[in-house]
Parts: sequence; structure tokens; C-alpha cells
Amino acid sequence: MEYNDRLSRFRQSHLNPFNKPREEEGSHDRAEDLPPPSKDSPPGSPHCEPEFNCPERVMDLGVSEDHFSRPVGLFLASDIQQLRQAIEECKQVILELPENSEKQKDAVIRLIHLRLKLQELKDPHENEPHLRILLEHRFCKERSKSVKQVCDKCSAFIWGLIHTWYTCTGCYYRCHSKCLNLITKPCVRSKVSHQSEYELSICPEIGLDCQDYRCAECRTPISFQSNGNEARHCDYTGLYYCSSCHWNDLAISPARVIHNWEFEPRKVSRCSMRYLTLMVNRPVLKLRELNPQLFNYVEELVEIRKLRQDILLMKPYFVTCKEAMEARLLLQLQERQHFVENDDMYSVQDLLEVSSGRLSCSLTEIHTMFAKHIKLDCERCQAKGFVCELCKEGDILFPFDSHTSVCQDCAAVFHRDCYYDNSTSCPRCPRLSLRKQVQEPAQETWQ
Ligand SMILES: [Zn+2]
Ligand SMILES: [Zn+2]
Ligand SMILES: [Zn+2]
Ligand SMILES: [Zn+2]
Ligand SMILES: [Zn+2]
Ligand SMILES: [Zn+2]
Repeated sequence: MEYNDRLSRFRQSHLNPFNKPREEEGSHDRAEDLPPPSKDSPPGSPHCEPEFNCPERVMDLGVSEDHFSRPVGLFLASDIQQLRQAIEECKQVILELPENSEKQKDAVIRLIHLRLKLQELKDPHENEPHLRILLEHRFCKERSKSVKQVCDKCSAFIWGLIHTWYTCTGCYYRCHSKCLNLITKPCVRSKVSHQSEYELSICPEIGLDCQDYRCAECRTPISFQSNGNEARHCDYTGLYYCSSCHWNDLAISPARVIHNWEFEPRKVSRCSMRYLTLMVNRPVLKLRELNPQLFNYVEELVEIRKLRQDILLMKPYFVTCKEAMEARLLLQLQERQHFVENDDMYSVQDLLEVSSGRLSCSLTEIHTMFAKHIKLDCERCQAKGFVCELCKEGDILFPFDSHTSVCQDCAAVFHRDCYYDNSTSCPRCPRLSLRKQVQEPAQETWQ
């Protein structure tokens, strides 16, 4: 059967297989995990380092060539007085200088700077702290004046020139300073580190009526009617949101990938979007347990699994080889640390690259480079090869070679054919245990 046919049949037979009614699944709480109730979030944050609380730590008054810069706490009314006086003097100078002269232009620029400075001094927002910890967000005050962003809380524009605004360094939630105290959502970064679990039911919808016709996040009344506040559906949580909490962002649904091998991005809420973005590179999907059948339908996955198993077999060579350490061979996989730790955990990004064929390409390349070091380039690694003890013929064998079998007990390597001809029994193991028996009594008499 054609591969694509098989895949589409597989998808048909697996449409929403895990999408059972919520009561049966006992997942009543899970769908509401996002957003988790704020009262459950641990109070305060242990990451609140004292040095960040110092308001003078990052000072930026906007005009670097200015003579008035000094720590913000020391600005007094007299500074504003001096500035006003400087502005008046500057105005006078401009009037006295020849029209359109270079000097006059310079003076005008200076006047603008002075006025901006005065505005900043009078701006009460300047006294706002540079770091605020709220619901586990770490909000840092943004200093860029030139940008125009959208506030994640009120959905209105943030104009850098006139608004003070903050961005969370964990989840990149950004909002006006005036909106900070209205935030009810805990930082999804903390959820990523505490919980690290995906909702793996495909779009676990409960219906707008079960949501009381309110936004799942901010509880604003929403409806399907065109005249009311439009209800927007999130494919990840299955819940409905208002247009302030759901901006029609598109994201790949991990549940659809796992169950249907489907990568088409779907519309998700802001909060789901932030969570999925932070999670995309985290290897939290144990495919073998979540959907072992996937390996029967997606050929690339079988190939990747073999490459990953080989790489794990090569790792002991590299961690004991000085040359390999110096050449930093294992660092080839530093973007995918989990590939040198196990062979069954995947991130959504991994799976996306499996489906596009990119992962197989890059991993084959790395595999070739690793094998070349062990089998050709490095004498130290070559010396750790095996001669097949069953036929005592042929090339030196390595555990990651094709057509070899490895004894599970003593790790000796044999030709696969020899091993099966010998009823998969290892000639080395009995010898080793015999030697052990001989040594142990001898040791006892010594003690
Ligand atoms: Zn806002
Ligand atoms: Zn955050
Ligand atoms: Zn809402
Ligand atoms: Zn080596
Ligand atoms: Zn052999
Ligand atoms: Zn053995």
C-alpha cells in the first residue's frame, strides 16, 4: 500500500480517538489548567534577586549627551526649575541667532532635548520600578521609546514615546504599566518549568454553554451572535475566548501531531500561544507510550529512532576519547541535548522537522561524522572495536554497525548471522562468570 494511503487511513481511523467526554476521562481540571487559577500559584517568587530591585540600576534618561543626568532619586524640584530656565534661555538664543543658520538648527535640537528631558522629569512613571514580580511574571520596564506594540492585557497600542510599558522576561507578556495591576494570568513560564505537560486530547471542547457564555480567561460575556462580543475558539484548550484574549494566532497542536500526525497550524488563544511557543523545543513527548502506532505509519520516525539509538551507542566512545572531547563532537547535538540522553523523548519541533525531512538529513550527517571519527580517524576509538568471537573473521565490529548484534549482558558485538546461528547465546558471558567465580573465593582467602 502506498505510504500516503496508509497515512490517510491511519488518520481516518484515529480521528479524535482520545477525545472522550470529559467526565469519563476524569480530566475535569486539565482543560482548565490553562489558565490555572491564580490562587494556586505559589506566593512571591524565589527568583526575586535583590539587585534588580534597585531603581538606579538601569538608568536611561533618553538623552545621552545631557548635562542633567544623575540618579533618578536625586531629582528635585530645583532640577525642573533649572531645566525650565535652560529652556527659556535656549528659546531666547534661537530668536537671536540668524534665521536658518546651522547654529540656530543646533539650538532647536537642544531645545527639543531639553523639553523631552523636562517631560521625563515631570513624568510620574519614571519613578516606577524597573522590575516587578507579579503572578510569577518578571516584568522589566521597557526603555525603547520608538516602538509601537500591542498590550496583551487591554489590546490597545503601546506607544513607546508616551506610555511606560513592561515585558515579562519569562513569557514575553507585554503590557502598559497601568495594566500591570489588572493582570490575572500567572506567568506561563512557571507552568513550563513546573508542569511541562501538554494537553494531549484533541481540542477538548466543553461548549460555550458550559462556559456560561463567558470568556475562559477574563470571564467577559461572549456569544456566537454577530452583534455581541464574538466567541473565538482555541484549538489547544478547546475553550472559547473573547477577542481580547484570542487574537487568532496560529499554532501547531501537539495533540493533533501525536494522534493524527497533523501539523497544520490552528487558531489558539493568546495564552495558549505563549505556552506552546515556550514549549516547542522541550522534549516532553514520549512517543513510544503516547502513540506507538505512529512508528508503523511514519517511516521517518523509524529511521530517526535507529539514528538516535546509534548515537547513544557512540556516546561512550566520545566521553572517553580525548580527541573527540577536544573536537567537541558531541556539541553537534547541543541544540538537542535529549538526543545524547535518551532515544524516545521528542519535542514538537523535533516532530515538525521529522515530517519535513530536515531532522533525518541533519541527524544522518551527524551520524556519519561520528562513525567516521570512531572507525576511521581515531586510533584510540578504533581500538575499542570488537572481533566477532563466533567466527573470528572479518572486520572490526562496532555496536552501531548494521548487521551486528550486541550481547545485552556483556556488550560484546557479533555478526548478527553468527549470533543467531549460535542461538543468540554469547560465548563471552560464561567465560566472564567463570573467571569471576575463580576470583571471588581467592579474594575471600585474602581477606
Ligand atoms: Zn494595556
Ligand atoms: Zn511571564
Ligand atoms: Zn477574554
Ligand atoms: Zn576517538
Ligand atoms: Zn561472526
Ligand atoms: Zn555476553
